[in-house]
Amino acid sequence: MSTPITNASRDLDAAFHEAYRRPSDGIWHAPGRVNLIGEHTDYNDGLVLPFALAQGVSVAAAARDDDVLELRSLQAADEAASVRLDDLAPGATEGWAGYAAGVAWALREAGHRPRGASLLIDSDLPQGAGLSSSAALECAVALALCELSGAEVPRPELARLAQRAENDFVGMPCGIMDQSAALLCTAGHALLLDCRSELSAQVPLDLGGLTLLVVDTRAAHELVDGEYASRRAECEAAAGALGVPALRDVTDLTAALDALDDPVQRRRVRHVVTENHRVEATVGLLRAGAVTEVGAMLTAAHLSLRDQFEVSWPEADVAVETAVRAGARGGRMVGGGFGGSVIALVPSGLVGRVCDAVLTAYEARGWRAPAFLTAVPSAGARRLT
Ligand code: ADP
Ligand code: MG
Repeated sequence: MSTPITNASRDLDAAFHEAYRRPSDGIWHAPGRVNLIGEHTDYNDGLVLPFALAQGVSVAAAARDDDVLELRSLQAADEAASVRLDDLAPGATEGWAGYAAGVAWALREAGHRPRGASLLIDSDLPQGAGLSSSAALECAVALALCELSGAEVPRPELARLAQRAENDFVGMPCGIMDQSAALLCTAGHALLLDCRSELSAQVPLDLGGLTLLVVDTRAAHELVDGEYASRRAECEAAAGALGVPALRDVTDLTAALDALDDPVQRRRVRHVVTENHRVEATVGLLRAGAVTEVGAMLTAAHLSLRDQFEVSWPEADVAVETAVRAGARGGRMVGGGFGGSVIALVPSGLVGRVCDAVLTAYEARGWRAPAFLTAVPSAGARRLT
């Protein structure tokens, strides 16, 4: 997967020259991510276990002598933006450019002094597929702006600034996972992140003869934002009823379920509590070199997301069931739900068979064909040239 980056860098440099009639000062890259396990645990102060993909967002950038931020993306060719750093304000930059401008804004809010710059974005990551192209974009831009301005910001802090850009500038209430994964992951590892303390640890993710297959179900369903908000509210209400700061703090599941009257809250609590345990069990299995057994954790997580948290969608259920029947060790929906991707842990020799089986199952239902991508645990954000 490293060769395409070299070619892509050369292409991006040429495209930068064409767009701005000058050479770039460098190219920075931040990866997308897949969360191996730990879904809907982040806002319950719990645990997540993402790893970085080989795919991601690259940005070619050159410093300017004025205070203008010029923003272009090869994926949004007719939506170039230009904004003066002094004019940066939440809501003032529309569309995709808000993710990049928001980073400059967040840096300034934190007391840093980013310089004006011309930026050209390129990406080999599908957008809106739950692979976190938004955080990859923010973090690649953050690295570029910091380095061009000589600002040395520790990566955990940079992750918070990028999150702030998305929360307060773009207006998306995401947690800290995506930006932490983009900035802190290392090749061959997953990142165990405690969303309460924001402490993280590297966990070896040695796949041996297995492949982590991502199935982009290419399905998006209505009401996603409303469903997400209602799940958060249900979790908060349940924690309140149980007298704990967050569902992370539930230590006795049976007692907690007995104490709740609302069957919906009981299902939500069951998911969050067991999901945190599945993250810990998965970390234990990975540290013991028992990656095959992680498959069962993924499938258990999927069933819990489907039946207890009720955020799965038909295309995800069919992808998981079909993959497992075709030989996958396990699989689950990833992301908030109601659309996006599925991951499956597949013996490498069976990847073709699993893809064929999923394609056939979708075709039989008259669904749009899914897209496939191999998830290789890769390095976090870095300068490429
Ligand atoms: P995800 O992060 O799961 O891919 P989001 O909805 O959070 O989905 O972020 C997708 C948004 O990020 C896009 O709609 C676009 O505004 C922005 N984005 C991501 N990649 C690019 C890119 N290469 N060029 C321009 N905008 C991008
Ligand atoms: Mg995103």
